[in-house]
Amino acid sequence: MLFGAPGSGKGTQSARLIDEYGLYHISTGELLRQHIKNGTELGKVADGYISKGQLIPDDLMIRILDETLDKEASGKNGVVFDGFPRTIPQADALKQLLRRRGYDLSAVVGLEVPEDELVTRMLQRGKETGRADDNIETIKNRLKVYHDQTAPLREYYIKEGKYLPVNGHGVVDEIFGNIAKGLREMAGIDSRK
Ligand code: ADP
Repeated sequence: MLFGAPGSGKGTQSARLIDEYGLYHISTGELLRQHIKNGTELGKVADGYISKGQLIPDDLMIRILDETLDKEASGKNGVVFDGFPRTIPQADALKQLLRRRGYDLSAVVGLEVPEDELVTRMLQRGKETGRADDNIETIKNRLKVYHDQTAPLREYYIKEGKYLPVNGHGVVDEIFGNIAKGLREMAGIDSRK
């Protein structure tokens, strides 16, 4: 699992992980944006929350993840969770969803980045990609939601002995190198390359 504040680089590092480790990527943010783009019912509901920088309700998000695991993840080498879980109830649900399928969570990579850098990155991304929730008002709310609802998961996974802190401020390759080193030392996971 990749864990971190909005703008911490979860998407960027996920891309490296899936490539080098042969994993399947589940990004709840990407999944929801795809629904919004396609104008589905779920997309309409999701848009109302995302545009305000709020979280999609837990029960809905958990149901979507359950279906995604069935449809996309079975038979794969492993999965990178990116943007899920974001609340304690989601983390509890994930534990059950994995257990039911006989899977286990190997490690939680926590990308740690100072807050002013997060804001700079998201504003830049907003300019470059036009991503609708990368505007200053929504960014402020996303960071507040992160601190209130998501940050407590750090302690949650530290207690489980799964949390691997990685400095997310720096060059993409170096950060990835530190993730790879941590995964090897902590969980005995090696890339396939
Ligand atoms: P970021 O981490 O930069 O905020 P994401 O693409 O992961 O970007 O998420 C974008 C938005 O999608 C979130 O602000 C939230 O509204 C919604 N979202 C994504 N994942 C979840 C989740 N697990 N639970 C609730 N809402 C989510």
